[in-house]
Amino acid sequence: MSQTNAYAAQAPTAPLAPFQLERRAAGPHDVQIQILYCGVCHSDVHQARDEWGGSTFPMVPGHEIVGRVTEVGREVGKFQAGDLVGVGCMVDTCRTCPNCQDGLEQYCETHISFTYNSTLQDRQTRTHGGYSQQIVVDENYVLRVSDRLPLAGVAPLLCAGITTYSPLKHWQAGPGKRVGVVGLGGLGHMAVKLGAAMGAEITVLSTSPAKEADARALGAHRFVVTRDAALKQERNYFDLIINTVGSNIDLNPYLTLLRLDGTMVMVGLPPTPPQVGIFPLVGQRRRLAGSHIGGIAETQEMLDFCAEHGIVSDVEVIPMSYINEAYERMLRSDVKYRFVIDLATL
Ligand code: NAP
Ligand code: ZN
Ligand code: ZN
Repeated sequence: MSQTNAYAAQAPTAPLAPFQLERRAAGPHDVQIQILYCGVCHSDVHQARDEWGGSTFPMVPGHEIVGRVTEVGREVGKFQAGDLVGVGCMVDTCRTCPNCQDGLEQYCETHISFTYNSTLQDRQTRTHGGYSQQIVVDENYVLRVSDRLPLAGVAPLLCAGITTYSPLKHWQAGPGKRVGVVGLGGLGHMAVKLGAAMGAEITVLSTSPAKEADARALGAHRFVVTRDAALKQERNYFDLIINTVGSNIDLNPYLTLLRLDGTMVMVGLPPTPPQVGIFPLVGQRRRLAGSHIGGIAETQEMLDFCAEHGIVSDVEVIPMSYINEAYERMLRSDVKYRFVIDLATL
């Protein structure tokens, strides 16, 4: 066991504050990691403020972790001390259900041990995330990170990157495909970069007119302000829409933007269920779908794809003590385009 400095929320209404937690000693299959950077995902805000229900406190959020291996267990074969590694949203799953066997651990039918606000496979030991100095994770849930990319920009790939890469791949974004990205935030800006690198035509659908130049610089080919009448002109246009908005918005106008057999994939997780009309779906055989992060092998594939294409997140690096202000700014859509905590400041 070792004492680790961290930042935790003590209650849904309490600001995050310094906290000490105990990390287990590295077991035979474990990797001990000194955390260098941790991205700030909107899911951290949802959970720290218990917007989805079921949160447990104290909670140390953070699931976009990059760091350096400090120690490995005796059975560990994939990593050694000094390696740069990443940890995303999961630290374990059952490993035996059909989905785990197929490398789709994010859809484990038994129990996902999320990186924080969750429990290990014993269903008792609480997990704590990356707003902390170190973490111990089973080697099968640790990713290899390239030393050729700026590390702070790599951290958000572990959630925002894989969460957008997986549906873009699954619904075959590529040359000749028209892809819409709703919301230019942490997930949205990664969807733009990754979708453009895959060769798709990318349109950003945003509530913020001021983000147009950024959207184009990130690789978007088109930009539409969703509060404009211009949205109507986009009807029946898209093959695929990746919707990253985590607030309660009306999905129906977006569904009408899909062409025949088009799919809108929800990755944003609004706390209350939206009302979806069936007529827009039936009219053009449209589909409304969801997608949850990505499996471990696919996450490694995404990291390798990003290394090959020189893709990282656009980040604002912050000290740990800035986290509460960062949350407020995220709620105002005022972030370009991901806050990343420098853990050396803890
Ligand atoms: P974020 O950085 O805050 O970005 C969300 C963006 O949505 C904003 O920048 C804004 O973009 C747009 N937006 C915000 N409020 C809006 C509103 N009321 N109406 C219309 N657009 C609005 O958040 P994020 O970290 O990308 O996360 C987005 C969502 O994905 C969250 O709900 C998060 O929990 C969820 N998530 C899901 C998964 C998964 O596996 N499915 C993984 C990670 C995160 P514009 O200014 O361009 O409009
Ligand atoms: Zn996340
Ligand atoms: Zn499983």
